[in-house]
Amino acid sequence: MTASILDGKQFAAQIRASVADHVVLLKDAHGVTPGLAVVLVGEDPASQVYVRAKGKQTIEVGMASFEHRLHAATSEADLLAMIDRLNADPEVHGILVQLPLPPHLDSDLVINRIDPAKDVDGFHISNVGLLATGQKAMVPCTPLGCLMMLRNHHGNLSGLHAVVVGRSNIVGKPMAQLLLGDSCTVTIAHSRTRDLAGLCRSADILVAAVGRPEMVTGDWIKPGATVIDVGINRIAVEGKTTLVGDVHFESAARVAGAITPVPGGVGPMTIACLLANTLSATCRANGLPEPEGLTV
Ligand code: NDP
Repeated sequence: MTASILDGKQFAAQIRASVADHVVLLKDAHGVTPGLAVVLVGEDPASQVYVRAKGKQTIEVGMASFEHRLHAATSEADLLAMIDRLNADPEVHGILVQLPLPPHLDSDLVINRIDPAKDVDGFHISNVGLLATGQKAMVPCTPLGCLMMLRNHHGNLSGLHAVVVGRSNIVGKPMAQLLLGDSCTVTIAHSRTRDLAGLCRSADILVAAVGRPEMVTGDWIKPGATVIDVGINRIAVEGKTTLVGDVHFESAARVAGAITPVPGGVGPMTIACLLANTLSATCRANGLPEPEGLTV
């Protein structure tokens, strides 16, 4: 069997186009321009790349982008004061603080200072609680993107056995909550899980969010299963840096029914979902209905 490829690049482009259409409507009919503020503390090279990409795509869909680059030695009080200003700014509908923060800053404290209604990353404890209790929440962008791809491929996920490998707060746990919300039978695996390969082989849907290059191989996969590879790992191959996922693509694609590639799978969906969340936040802030298909 050769798996069909779940093309995140193409799907993300469709989502951005839909977001852009809604932005035009919001501007024309209501005089509202969605605004996304991104705060970057320090000079971490990977974070700078992400922030640049987010700013570029925000502008491309017609939203206002507010970038705040702060010195690595910024004090917690100054960062919190900036978040307070953004919370109060009516032109800002979404706020994202790029993680990781420098070690002298308390990430939980900073994230929980963001107004939950503007928390487009979905990391605020209120949004985490809403998602966990099956209520309307701002959903973390990466798992939201994964769910959209799964719904797009399967239609109905009800009754499928989903195994999520990884239990982080930003990917694994919210992914499991979302799958549960769609009536999957969900198992969460992690570094202490016994017989991980055997467990993965029982999955109709396998989500790998581990951070271990090519850990999941074809013999871990049930024939015909859908494999979502969240991992982004940079490895050296013949002296060149190459991007690989947590899944060994070549062997997995021979067994799976469908699979996301790396790059070009989950990665592009993450920023598209950030824009969708910013659009939803803008609609809610203005008492308008949220666009269908761009939120859960
Ligand atoms: P974390 O490091 O926070 O979590 C990794 C999880 O994997 C942990 O729960 C850990 O278990 C588990 N794990 C580690 N080793 C093993 C193992 N050998 N067997 C089973 N489980 C294991 O990572 P993130 O969740 O933040 O990210 C995961 C991956 O996704 C990374 O590659 C990251 O780069 C990528 N990512 C991609 C995004 C995208 O946009 N595509 C966005 C965010 C992340 P334990 O809890 O027991 O330690």
